[in-house]
Amino acid sequence: MRLVLLGSPGVGKGTQAKFITEKFHIPHISTGDILRAAVNEGSPLGRQVKQIIDEGGLVSDDIMIQLIKERLQRPDCINGFLLDGFPRTIDQAKHLEKILNEQHLPLDFIIQITVPEEEIVQRLSGRRIHPGSGRVYHLQHNPPKEKDKDDITGEPLILRPDDQEATVRRRLEVYRHQTEPLVNFYRSNEPLTFNNISQHPLYYEVDGNRPVEKVTQDLNTILGVESQTGKGQHH
Ligand code: AMP
Repeated sequence: MRLVLLGSPGVGKGTQAKFITEKFHIPHISTGDILRAAVNEGSPLGRQVKQIIDEGGLVSDDIMIQLIKERLQRPDCINGFLLDGFPRTIDQAKHLEKILNEQHLPLDFIIQITVPEEEIVQRLSGRRIHPGSGRVYHLQHNPPKEKDKDDITGEPLILRPDDQEATVRRRLEVYRHQTEPLVNFYRSNEPLTFNNISQHPLYYEVDGNRPVEKVTQDLNTILGVESQTGKGQHH
């Protein structure tokens, strides 16, 4: 299964991506995580992109397209993948189509998660991440078992520098201008609506302004996962 999760920073893409990739045994490819890892390692790529990321801007399409091209060639992508944070511009989306068409591997799903901007600002200031793995927590909505510590490694959690309010507002503006146009690129003109989900061929929209498990349920419906009453519930 090949899918793209669309949505502005802070809508819960990372959290939902983790559930989906565990269920389908496909890699979670977060371009933000890849870039942050490069920054932490101090690699040439990392040095090139650090300032852009810290300021909430977008890394150039050339760099991103090359990066994703290489990542999609890795053997773990053989059964599919989930893209989180890519594509972010029309140019990136067009190149992604080209790369996948060449391999006769079209996307199966494009799912946009939406949340109002003011709610996002609230959410991101409470977000904490485990830098080593990219695992995401939230002080109120998804707290770690032990305060400020990663559930699995026990290592400290951090507030991402770009999750500070002024930078969040900049990232939301960048999203509105650069990434929102992708929605029209992907969807057809005639949506069909059922429950909370608007359906387009390949393209779906889910209201992310609800508890994590409700959003997960809708994603499961879209992806055709059997509902498991009392099992597989996430808090
Ligand atoms: P994210 O964790 O997805 O919010 O990404 C963090 C930062 O990495 C973004 O604010 C951008 O600076 C950069 N970034 C991640 N993915 C992309 C992309 N597809 N195109 C351009 N910049 C990106």
